[in-house]
Amino acid sequence: MRWAPGEGYFWRPAPQADGFSLKDRDVTVDVVIIGTGPGGAAVAKVLADSGVSVLLLEEGPPEERFRKNQGAVMRHHMQEGGAMVATGSTFMPIAAGRGVGGGTLINSAIAWRCPDAVLDSWTEKLDDRRYAADNMRPVYDELWEYLGIWDTLPEIAGENSHMLVRGAKALGYDGGYLARYTPRCVGCGTCFYGCATGGKASTNHNFLVEAATNGARIQADTKVKDFLMSGARVVGVVGQMFHPDTREPGGRVTVRAGKVVVACGGIGTPRLLASSSLDLGPAVGQGLHVHPGNAVFGYCKQEVNWWQGATQGAYFHPPGLPGVLPHTSSLPPEVALLSMAPLGIGAADALAMIPHLAGCLVMISDHSNGSVGAWPDGRANLSYTFLPEDIDRIKAGMVHTARAMLLGGAEWLFCAVSGVGKVSTAEELEARLATRTIQDFTLYASHPMSSCRMGKDPATSVIRPDGRAHAVEGVYLVDSSIFPTSLGVNPSITTMAMATLIGRGIAQVG
Ligand SMILES: Cc1cc2nc3c(=O)[nH]c(=O)nc-3n(C[C@H](O)[C@H](O)[C@H](O)COP(=O)(O)OP(=O)(O)OC[C@H]3O[C@@H](n4cnc5c(N)ncnc54)[C@H](O)[C@@H]3O)c2cc1C
Repeated sequence: MRWAPGEGYFWRPAPQADGFSLKDRDVTVDVVIIGTGPGGAAVAKVLADSGVSVLLLEEGPPEERFRKNQGAVMRHHMQEGGAMVATGSTFMPIAAGRGVGGGTLINSAIAWRCPDAVLDSWTEKLDDRRYAADNMRPVYDELWEYLGIWDTLPEIAGENSHMLVRGAKALGYDGGYLARYTPRCVGCGTCFYGCATGGKASTNHNFLVEAATNGARIQADTKVKDFLMSGARVVGVVGQMFHPDTREPGGRVTVRAGKVVVACGGIGTPRLLASSSLDLGPAVGQGLHVHPGNAVFGYCKQEVNWWQGATQGAYFHPPGLPGVLPHTSSLPPEVALLSMAPLGIGAADALAMIPHLAGCLVMISDHSNGSVGAWPDGRANLSYTFLPEDIDRIKAGMVHTARAMLLGGAEWLFCAVSGVGKVSTAEELEARLATRTIQDFTLYASHPMSSCRMGKDPATSVIRPDGRAHAVEGVYLVDSSIFPTSLGVNPSITTMAMATLIGRGIAQVG
């Protein structure tokens, strides 16, 4: 179904959240939820709807602290100031959002259903049909309607996306404009810095509003640090408020709850578990997938002005490369400048070229994986090891992307891989990439997941199919850390869908 923009979806101003205070706070609720991104917000709505008393605790501030510039976004709305880096095979930054709304505050809101083949593999692994394609379909349908998801309209997509669509079409590749949860999008290209127009359906404009209407409270500026236990049961959490600007510690927050739901994200959840006294078993932090990727840039005769139009508006499926997903992206000009530096183009000329640049990210569903632990100061300790086959898949995806961009209007190309330089054909790119190792790549990832997996075996998974921890009673996980495998598509909608199903289960058992 193609959604008619502007009709039917749920969008309201963000709900009130309590913020920093020097006073300690003691609360007793039925359920405490840690994290307010897709997982935490979706489960909060389901539980509050069914009459359960809910408190959400969120490390970051509410959206009103957004200053529409990259520095402020890094400081307030990226976990660990945007400086989380995995080492291992190479150096790879991994981004995750922070604040009341989690990653949806600063993401591009691209919406995908998890491919049936991936869901089928989960059914087999879990020996449980609750996430089978036919069970997920109605939940995805509900989300499509609730969030006002529709394919990016050509009139707001922008030339960056048009050229990829043109090129992919000329090659006969399957592709088009991306579906996104941006029902009131005007194509201003600022999704990464917080939606400037209220066009995005981030979770603070829907799930959290409805949860709050049904009595849920939100406590922002509060980092959960540990869990309260009674025998082998988790009975609450302890957190600390921090001033959003000075980062000075404030009051302590103690929450006693019948159930604790952890939704801190693919890095945040294992980081919290690893730094706390709660032991959820050997699989915590293992098997991290991130959808790593690189970018191909094209210089076009025509002006592209990639900051005009949807931040990420188009994609295609490269033939014969399942799990490889090129999609357009506008990027900060400084990223383009840094990538152009090795081309030997002077800064003034490079600046003048920026309006003519097109950019396309190439991400893969990774077979490689990594781990998440915690350093003594509580920051994430990330490691990731690349399998050679994944490097080859990124390279192959880049070559297909080059083909599409050249046919779409690019005159020459470059990429963030050292030693490749300027190329004019896809074959030239392929030949130069062939000798490059992973250390030559400037990689990027923003889909951390599968780091506290759902599964049957407590030795290799952290939670059961209904979201409950294997190791102790009273604690559930509902975020992107629970996927049994990598998805291959942008993960936020699947996180919402699984959290919704887990929430319904929690509401049923009471
Ligand atoms: C730049 C960028 C662009 C992206 N674009 C897309 C896209 O277009 N489409 C898509 O599907 N996905 C996209 N993603 C990924 C998507 O946003 C995430 O997969 C999704 O937000 C994860 O949801 P989550 O509920 O698992 O966790 P998160 O959204 O990460 O939410 C976790 C929340 O928990 C909070 N938290 C962490 N630790 C603690 C603690 N100890 N105490 C209290 N609170 C804590 C965090 O501050 C955060 O707000 C993008 C991500 C980034 C960074």
